[in-house]
Amino acid sequence: MPEPILRIAVDTPLRRVFDYLPAKNCSANALQPGIRVWVPLGRRRALGMIVARTTHTDIPASKLRRIDTVIDDEPLFDSVLFGLLQFASDYYRHPIGEVFAAAMPGLLGKGAPVNAQHSVWRLRSDASIADIPKRATRLHAVLHALNDHQWHDEHALADSHADWRGALRDLVQRGVVETSRQATSTTLEIASNAGALEAVPIPQLNAAQQQTLQNITAALGSFHTLLLHGVTGSGKTEVYLRAIAQVLERGEQALVLAPEIALTPQLLTRFTARFGDAVVVLHSALNDSERLNAWRAARTGQARIVIGTRSAIFTALAKPGLIIIDEEHDASYKQQEGFRYSARDLGIARAQRHGIPVLLGSATPSLETLQRARQTGNLLSLPQRAGEAQPPTLKLIDLRQHGATQGLSTPVMMRIREHLDAGHQVLLYLNRRGFAPVLFCPSCGWSAPCARCDARLTVHKRQHKLVCHHCGHEQPLRNECPSCHAEVKPVGQGTERIEETLAQLYPDAPLARIDRDSISRKGELDAVLARIQQREVKLLVGTQMVSKGHHFPHVTLVVILDADQGLFSADFRASERLAQSIVQVAGRAGRETHAGEVLIQTEYPDHPLLQQLLNAGYEGFADAALAEREAAHWPPFTRLALLRAEANDLGKALQFLRDTRTAAQHIKHGKQYSGIQVLGPAPAPMTRKAGVHRAHLLLQSDSAKTLQALLAALIPKMDELPSAKSVRWSVDVDPIELF
Ligand code: ADP
Ligand code: ZN
Ligand code: ZN
Repeated sequence: MPEPILRIAVDTPLRRVFDYLPAKNCSANALQPGIRVWVPLGRRRALGMIVARTTHTDIPASKLRRIDTVIDDEPLFDSVLFGLLQFASDYYRHPIGEVFAAAMPGLLGKGAPVNAQHSVWRLRSDASIADIPKRATRLHAVLHALNDHQWHDEHALADSHADWRGALRDLVQRGVVETSRQATSTTLEIASNAGALEAVPIPQLNAAQQQTLQNITAALGSFHTLLLHGVTGSGKTEVYLRAIAQVLERGEQALVLAPEIALTPQLLTRFTARFGDAVVVLHSALNDSERLNAWRAARTGQARIVIGTRSAIFTALAKPGLIIIDEEHDASYKQQEGFRYSARDLGIARAQRHGIPVLLGSATPSLETLQRARQTGNLLSLPQRAGEAQPPTLKLIDLRQHGATQGLSTPVMMRIREHLDAGHQVLLYLNRRGFAPVLFCPSCGWSAPCARCDARLTVHKRQHKLVCHHCGHEQPLRNECPSCHAEVKPVGQGTERIEETLAQLYPDAPLARIDRDSISRKGELDAVLARIQQREVKLLVGTQMVSKGHHFPHVTLVVILDADQGLFSADFRASERLAQSIVQVAGRAGRETHAGEVLIQTEYPDHPLLQQLLNAGYEGFADAALAEREAAHWPPFTRLALLRAEANDLGKALQFLRDTRTAAQHIKHGKQYSGIQVLGPAPAPMTRKAGVHRAHLLLQSDSAKTLQALLAALIPKMDELPSAKSVRWSVDVDPIELF
């Protein structure tokens, strides 16, 4: 019988797999899909993953190489996860080897064993102990512990002699003792925290929460996509905790995803207080071995609850029972470079393959999710805040009537004073960091540009720098205009400037700023949050960072300083994002006994989006926005794929996309591709970024299936286009940013 051929995925940007012969002295049965191997690739050795066995290869026998070593004795990913990764590679049109690499902790990609292992030792059966001198008491002490010829681990040997390790080394060298590695058995330790668990009071669910929980419970054991649309503070997290408790009771595991920024210590404390050691966390602050340990604990089932950010959707689970995706609308679930997957959408696909429910939670669901939930009827809602807290009142402040000095209108300044005098906290939201977005010359009209981007430099006054927020370029802050030498002025507001203004207006109120400049490490954010919690801070100004997941019980006034960013954007998703951030920030107000107030500064108080939000809430906004999307053939009523090209000049990028368009048109002649629009090519809104020119071509389709079929045929053609040589290009399926 001829030897089998193994198809192997290797972590390279090539869209292909590689064929190999089995390793020498290796039973072919050991070579199953999902097993990692080391293979020779060119002149290097690469880690690969077996994806299939076959009997045929196009590679001539003389060129066919052998697998070097087999790493695993069982597949790393179970068949569901393995299938999901293959699906993801197909769907997002990303090389399978890179998909596997992205799905495993870094150390597994370097060949670390999938199971935790430890060393063991035993006496060789043919050992001749007689040769060991009587006076070597150290060696005899260890030999005594090994005299039953069984394998022993370090716990069993540690008491034998103070230098037992040295003695073992010696004995192994003499050929008397042999050593091996054994899988470390894992034991559940949930009970160890039982005492602490009881100390935390568990609230009685209100009627709406009760109903929601019942619906989730009824869904356990089979695939459902449930949307939990609950206003901020409505007790969604409490419902998650109860649902998870039921999942654990069934002997299953729960996987919980949260955006990085919402994965707060507060949230983790709530989970560990309830479930103790059963919880593991996978986020960006872990080092490689911590990440691997958490992943292993999930894979063996030792960890019953896995909480993590985007990439945690690929965590291997022994017995999955429920997937929860908190803040499902958050853009961070979509990876924006390389393997451009959506963890939310893959979460749904994964749940379907496992036959378990997926629960998507948000106060501001994405229009895609909302539309789907309305169609399927799987919409659970918590329309009211839990406990005593009341919903905040929203009010627009017309900036055309009330001039704003340094970004703050008079009514806003007065209300801030009143809330401070009442002993409360005030939160100001501005999604623009730095001191001012523009450095401007009033005499000739010059404004400081980035040399590498089609963008202006942001003034960072405290650091005395001009910084490009798109490419990171920095230069010293200047005082005079380079063309007419007049004095230049920072124009517009950033959080740094608002902080300065607030310090002048309210010198008595301790102030904190939360944005990427003031908070660079994870610990810093925790420290500021603690100061807010303890009411040391009275005034809080921040970017998006303050709007997500935090619970500020003493904030009673929220001011949205500039609602107008996003009202008139060319991006069809801009209004959705604006509505979400307004509602999310507003939701930080009055989360406890005092009613909250939200003031929204705008020059366009009659804008329909603001009116809808004010009069009919997020639901009202969503109704109108969905109607608009349907009329304009945007998602969720159509599906998109964005082809981006970058080159050192715009002409080359556009030429490649024109050739791509022609190729697509050619393929499209077949009937099955009707219903696909090819839009563009066009220069990207910010054409030049970090010195490269960018253009894109948009494919819009009535159905995901036809779009997939077109992409499958088109992408190999794109690789072959002569104009592809002078560009870098990528494909983004279900893009959420259209630049
Ligand atoms: P969300 O996740 O929707 O923002 P949380 O679960 O964090 O809501 O609940 C908001 C606050 O209300 C928390 O302090 C929580 O402990 C409390 N809470 C939740 N459910 C109840 C309830 N049924 N009764 C009283 N308080 C509750
Ligand atoms: Zn000038
Ligand atoms: Zn730049």
